[in-house]
Amino acid sequence: MLNITSKSDLVHWLKKSDPAELQELYDAAYQVKLEHVGKNVYMRGIVEFSNICAKNCFYCGIRLDNTNVSRYSMTEDEILATVRSAVDLGYTSVVLQSGERKSGDFTGFVDSVVKKIKAIDNGAVGITLSVGEQDRDTFQRWFDSGAHRYLLRIETSNPKLYARLHPDGHDYVRRLGCLAELREIGYQVGTGVMMGLPFQTEEDMSDDILFFKEHDIDMIGMGPYIVHRDTPLGQGQEGFAYDARRNFDLGLKMIALTRIMLKDVNIAAATALQALDAEGRERGLRCGANIIMPNVTPVKFREGYQLYEGKPCMDENAKMCSACLASRVASVGENIVMNQWGDSPHFFKRNKPS
Ligand code: SAH
Ligand code: SF4
Repeated sequence: MLNITSKSDLVHWLKKSDPAELQELYDAAYQVKLEHVGKNVYMRGIVEFSNICAKNCFYCGIRLDNTNVSRYSMTEDEILATVRSAVDLGYTSVVLQSGERKSGDFTGFVDSVVKKIKAIDNGAVGITLSVGEQDRDTFQRWFDSGAHRYLLRIETSNPKLYARLHPDGHDYVRRLGCLAELREIGYQVGTGVMMGLPFQTEEDMSDDILFFKEHDIDMIGMGPYIVHRDTPLGQGQEGFAYDARRNFDLGLKMIALTRIMLKDVNIAAATALQALDAEGRERGLRCGANIIMPNVTPVKFREGYQLYEGKPCMDENAKMCSACLASRVASVGENIVMNQWGDSPHFFKRNKPS
């Protein structure tokens, strides 16, 4: 078994590129996965219900100032019909994701959708929200209405780098505050980062893993940074060369190291891995991930939700994706679990009455 416990161990492995040595890392992470969470792979059907966003993250294709995107918002009926068909495919755990908006109209809309999803089959559907930073009362309201998990990536745990990747109006300290509030309210809390961001070092990414541990995070969703040409970062930054292959490898290495360090958390094999390698998600599973988030957004909206370029499965509907996924996951010897929420084992351990 590899001995990986400190920041210098993490940096050492993140800098490695020899395929045989990396395979040793991936195999070690897979053993930790088998021991702590087993071979089961849980599904979350993700509904990208709106690309309207009030923010301007420098890396993201649907940022406010990108005028090359035509904006959409699914109606409540469209979202409910999408969730219904996801449930019929066996995805009883769904993620509602969108750009970030704080208006009362938006927060009320999300609240109403959450309540109506909870009414399906007597609360059979688990709901994760991923709609950005909100105030505490809004987080509480959505929790009371039935959402039980929340994904909010910290993007990078280096506050200086965070400031370089976001314009004024984005506040690292507030983002941390959101994660703390979500946890206090009782959500299963998910966070994560991008790997291979401009100016991000292996030391930064090692600190990201230590950040997950220190903040006792339940679910990790992280993926390689992928360039989008209609963004400030995509239009070239002096001194930064985008290297998709390096970012992909960093994606796998981070999954493996996070599994070794955190052990019993849920870790998603992000779609961004698949964007860079046709077998990216399956490889993620073999490196320690145990969650896949199939896209169930109706095909007609997918064109509008490109956070990065080269997003896969743009013209495959949820049913086609589901058949394709089942054979892909089986091909790496893993066991897809349908019709279960697959909550984070870590969440239950940290909430166990003492
Ligand atoms: N607006 C919400 C949810 C949608 S964005 C939010 O920001 O939390 C979801 C995630 O997409 C972000 O957290 C970010 O990590 C990721 N993302 C955005 N642009 C990306 C890019 N160019 N490459 C890879 N991931 C990206
Ligand atoms: Fe908006 Fe999220 Fe993209 Fe930032 S990452 S611009 S908040 S959708």
